[in-house]
Amino acid sequence: MITRLSQLFLRTLRDDPADAEVPSHKLLVRAGYVRRIAPGVYSWLPLGLKVLREVERVVREEMDAIGAQEILLPALLPRDPYETSNRWTEYGQGLFRLKDRKGNDYLLGPTHEELFALTVKGEYNSYKDFPVTLYQVQTKYRDEERPRAGILRGREFVMKDSYSFDLTDEGLTASYRAHRDAYERILQRLGVKYVIVSATSGAMGGSASEEFLAESEIGEDTYVRCLESGYAANVEAVKTVVPEPIPFDGLPEAKVHETPDTPTIDTLVDWANGAGLDRTVTAADTLKNILVKTRVPGGEWELLGIGIPGDREVDAKRLEASLEPAEYVLLTETDFANNPFLVKGYIGPKALQENGVRYLVDPRVVDGTSWITGADAEGKHVVGLVAGRDFTPDGTVEAAEVRDGDPSPDGAGELVSARGIEVGHVFQLGRKYTDAFEVNVLGENGKPVRPTMGSYGIGVSRLVAVIAEQQHDDKGLRWPAEVSPANVHLVIANKDDAAREGAEALAAQLDGAGLSVILDDRKASPGVKFKDSELLGVPLIVVVGRGYADGNVELRDRFTGESREVPADSALDEVLAALRS
Ligand code: ATP
Ligand code: MG
Repeated sequence: MITRLSQLFLRTLRDDPADAEVPSHKLLVRAGYVRRIAPGVYSWLPLGLKVLREVERVVREEMDAIGAQEILLPALLPRDPYETSNRWTEYGQGLFRLKDRKGNDYLLGPTHEELFALTVKGEYNSYKDFPVTLYQVQTKYRDEERPRAGILRGREFVMKDSYSFDLTDEGLTASYRAHRDAYERILQRLGVKYVIVSATSGAMGGSASEEFLAESEIGEDTYVRCLESGYAANVEAVKTVVPEPIPFDGLPEAKVHETPDTPTIDTLVDWANGAGLDRTVTAADTLKNILVKTRVPGGEWELLGIGIPGDREVDAKRLEASLEPAEYVLLTETDFANNPFLVKGYIGPKALQENGVRYLVDPRVVDGTSWITGADAEGKHVVGLVAGRDFTPDGTVEAAEVRDGDPSPDGAGELVSARGIEVGHVFQLGRKYTDAFEVNVLGENGKPVRPTMGSYGIGVSRLVAVIAEQQHDDKGLRWPAEVSPANVHLVIANKDDAAREGAEALAAQLDGAGLSVILDDRKASPGVKFKDSELLGVPLIVVVGRGYADGNVELRDRFTGESREVPADSALDEVLAALRS
């Protein structure tokens, strides 16, 4: 196919859009691939749509290869199934809810576990029908709190979601494995650099949920990895390495000290080092107590005290993941006023426990560890408060930040952190939805069996942004051949009639060989055309320019920047050879 730039519905922009911060967003807008309609809502223009379709093609090919079957469910969905699964409420503000003219509640699907469970229930009723895996490539809707970076985090976006149905746990493991492998092939074909991280702390077993993160500085997900073992995990999933408990014998008594004006960890450490404690005190010797309010869905707000070593901050995402499904908020001034035993800056375990406040500590706060912490009175701290002897927490919580240099949970070395963008998620869901919808099928022995589900998502439209993000340079986009909007970008950089005709002939030849060609036949200066060819990002650029008088055309490699002259006569073969390599 030949796409003529003189005809193509395309305007490239010289300047970056004002609302764009990340390179992929700037370039996709400047190159005329996408246009903004509303926050997190974008249109796909011809070249952008081509790339999106190519990503979809790769995803479909790999899904079909593992025997998944494509179907398409509506995006506009009735409330009922989501009521049954409780997600009508649980999804919170992220769900687009609407009413029809009769006042019935609807939603725009954010993900479709409910509907797939119901669809399978509707069609299948015997063990002979299983296993089965279904998928769709569909537009999803989520009212994201912070839509970001154009199509990277949209409120409308394209996802491939698939769902496996098996009758046994081994079957689920196999379906999960097949998806995981397929996702690896997809990302390799798309040229995406990625890591696979365990996404949950593994309450359901080691590999119950993993995320595919594209490596990127601008990613919103922080993950950590251990270079020695290859262990990688979301920060939320990192389990603190728990030290051995310390015997109480010989530990000095706890003693309350006057510590005026020490409401912060820094001021407390300064005081401690001037107090003649016979040792150097660091923030790690202090126990910082943070108060939040938590609420389980449908429940009441309750106070929760969290004790972590004073040299660490609370990581909001880790805390959130640990408390789920309960939500949490910080205390307001009114909360402090209503609970006078909470002495700001001087909160200690004692008052919390005496007043029935649930108190969870960092897993490092094991029995026998001795702390400097608040004594629950203005200007007072206690030194030598020993866990398990002087206070007994209600449990532990993974809330403290994970830092570079922390020991890897697998004991192999230290953790280092990096940033990534989630592009895929594989999840052994189990029977949550088949239970909710009472999906039963007849088992081999005549008794009913309940299928177990896996759920697998890949961000199709997000991948377009991710590829752009990982592959661009300062001149523009650079598409891997697999998803490029064309095989060749042919620039006519010569006004000469013979050159024009030669370029047209070459375009026809390339087209005849089954290649897709963007032909820059516009009446514009060569400089403008070269700039656009770099901006648009087709990996192979052919220039019919000055050298044509000597029978030569130029081949430019958009990735390496290298260019070479080849005889116009053999241009087709040279292009085919270049595309093969
Ligand atoms: P995130 O943590 O980035 O919000 P998620 O965990 O909510 O993603 P899933 O529900 O696992 O996402 O959805 C599967 C895939 O869909 C994700 O891996 C991601 O690639 C893609 N995706 C999710 N939300 C968006 C969005 N707002 N815009 C574009 N793609 C998205
Ligand atoms: Mg996810």
